[in-house]
Amino acid sequence: MAKVYYDKDINTESLQGKTVAIIGYGSQGHAHAQNLRDSGQNVIVGLRQGKSFDRAKEDGFDVRSVAEAVKEADVTMVLLPDEGQPAVYENEIRDNLKANSALAFAHGFNVHFNQIVPPENVDVFLVAPKGPGHLVRRTYQEEAGVPALYGVFQDVTGAATDVAKAYARGIGAARAGVLETSFQEETETDLFGEQAVLCGGLTSLVKAGFETLTDAGYQPEVAYFECLHELKLIVDLMYEGGLENMRYSISDTAQWGDFVSGPRVINDETKARMSEVLKEIQNGEFAKGWILENKAGRPQYNAINNSEYKHPITAVGQELRELMPFVQNPIR
Ligand code: NDP
Ligand code: MG
Ligand code: MG
Repeated sequence: MAKVYYDKDINTESLQGKTVAIIGYGSQGHAHAQNLRDSGQNVIVGLRQGKSFDRAKEDGFDVRSVAEAVKEADVTMVLLPDEGQPAVYENEIRDNLKANSALAFAHGFNVHFNQIVPPENVDVFLVAPKGPGHLVRRTYQEEAGVPALYGVFQDVTGAATDVAKAYARGIGAARAGVLETSFQEETETDLFGEQAVLCGGLTSLVKAGFETLTDAGYQPEVAYFECLHELKLIVDLMYEGGLENMRYSISDTAQWGDFVSGPRVINDETKARMSEVLKEIQNGEFAKGWILENKAGRPQYNAINNSEYKHPITAVGQELRELMPFVQNPIR
């Protein structure tokens, strides 16, 4: 079994007294900055003028330009959108990195696919939380955490692994479990997970179920509760105790339906498609397509985003959630 590290296994000395610059203050950025600060770390934030800049200031941070923050930093954590990182790296980060400091990421994409080539005189590591940034913050405040992977790409000081683990502990990840990975493994499994299961697989499954019911004449409200809302309740049971806990809690009829019908919906054909998706991630085809899509100004991304928003599940969901005040949207 892989070695999983917890708070008690991680020495934080390698980060003590050091300055961490968090570049970006979005989903991951605000969570890393606030969790590290609450863990006693000296944190500064690097940003351009704008919404995030104002928000980080309001939250009490010492906010600088990206270049000024990097110049001060012993650890520079890059939490900009992946597709925007190469340009900011070239213009504001690379030439300001202190020798023997550390350059860090929360996802291996740009380093693994050679969009960012770090200089030879810095440590390079990743700490990738396995969950959305808003939960990285919320769970930390609840004395819990989101698990994370760490990986070292380049170790010039001999301390890169210790610093990476201490960083993971600082954001609260070692309360849940921290595992070693490589940039390659993190990048490929992260892209596969979000495409095939967590985001792509799930939204397609939810929509297919919703459409099947509404096409057959059932009420959209019933289809929404059945195929989307209830998903969280089921997933919570899986999160707490695996598939077996979920199956323990559902009726025997539901469990029998799970056994006989689930494998008809997700079958060997689906797995063959998943393998195709994985292959295109591994051979760089997906990365190339996404990089080009961004260079072209995102024509397909925007078109699909607009048409997805018009799906009937959006309107019915907005209506029903308004009537459930306990359903909170954590995105502020
Ligand atoms: P977001 O899109 O939420 O945040 C982007 C931040 O970067 C904003 O604060 C934005 O500020 C700032 N920014 C954008 N462009 C620039 C620029 N040119 N100069 C300065 N600041 C800029 O990013 P995420 O948190 O989603 O992603 C960050 C990293 O974390 C990525 O590598 C991603 O793969 C990884 N990750 C993300 C997860 C998630 O939950 N979202 C999960 C695990 C890893 P402004 O307001 O000015 O636009
Ligand atoms: Mg992920
Ligand atoms: Mg990802």
